[in-house]
Amino acid sequence: MSQSRLQQDEDRRSCWVCFATEEDDRTAAWVRPCRCRGTTKWVHQTCLQRWVDEKQKGNSTVKVACPQCNTEYLILFPKLGPVVYVMDIIDRVIYKMCPFVAGGIFIGTVYWTMVTYGAVTVMQVLGHKEGLNVMEQADPLFLLIGLPTIPLMLILGKMVRWEDYVLRLWRKHSSKLPLINYLFPDEHSRLSRVPADTVTLTDPISATRVLCGALVMPTIATIVGKLMFGFVQSNFQRTLLGGIAFVAIKGVLKIYYKQQQYLRQANRIIRDYEEDTQETTNPIVESQVAHSVDPHLVDPHLVDPHQVDPLQE
Ligand SMILES: [Zn+2]
Ligand SMILES: [Zn+2]
Repeated sequence: MSQSRLQQDEDRRSCWVCFATEEDDRTAAWVRPCRCRGTTKWVHQTCLQRWVDEKQKGNSTVKVACPQCNTEYLILFPKLGPVVYVMDIIDRVIYKMCPFVAGGIFIGTVYWTMVTYGAVTVMQVLGHKEGLNVMEQADPLFLLIGLPTIPLMLILGKMVRWEDYVLRLWRKHSSKLPLINYLFPDEHSRLSRVPADTVTLTDPISATRVLCGALVMPTIATIVGKLMFGFVQSNFQRTLLGGIAFVAIKGVLKIYYKQQQYLRQANRIIRDYEEDTQETTNPIVESQVAHSVDPHLVDPHLVDPHQVDPLQE
């Protein structure tokens, strides 16, 4: 009895998209596209088409399923003519291949840029004529592999943060090295606290900074070599010495800078809150200058009165 009632219910078609029944539109085409029973069994062909369009968002290859029972809709297309069929296949192949081709072009471009950079660097370091001679005599295969490794090695070398290791070692053993202590006054003994030094040591390496620094390195090495080691005859040796000197000087300065930042963090003070905001800035500046902790903060007595922030006046 109930079985036949259910059958009756299902026979009275009503579209689950627009809720119209057979009586509302006698010419509309119906479809039952999934396993659903009862009120969601039937749907207008045009209503379901619209719903599928909405789900596919313009990409007709996307599979669409019933939101209730998850049955995937079977969508049939009219048969294609042979010309359209071939064009359709070609279109699909091109669609799939394009990302790979673009990736290949990109990698190729990067590779040839690296080869060019390597060649320019060889000429820069060895001298124009000698560099050309060396490259002409070298095995082409060796050049194709060797030249692009030049920028690669420069970048990898730049990523070695040897200053951090030196600084860490120094902080550990600074008390045993009186000479260095004399050169870089170490205030370890009177640190008021140990700062969270991870921030200064492992700050995220900016990729662009590494890249620029690495690629500019041969030019800097050449310039420093010419300035400091002009007496050396060999181009290569002069540039090598210049590079080593530059890296060493820069490393020492960087270590000094980081150590000063570290001490500045270690000796910072949190002030009492004061109602009178006009007087709050000067005493702390004076106290920090007195400790000679911060080279960046300016002694208020030396400041040009016109440059003082008008809000403090
Ligand atoms: Zn409908
Ligand atoms: Zn369903």
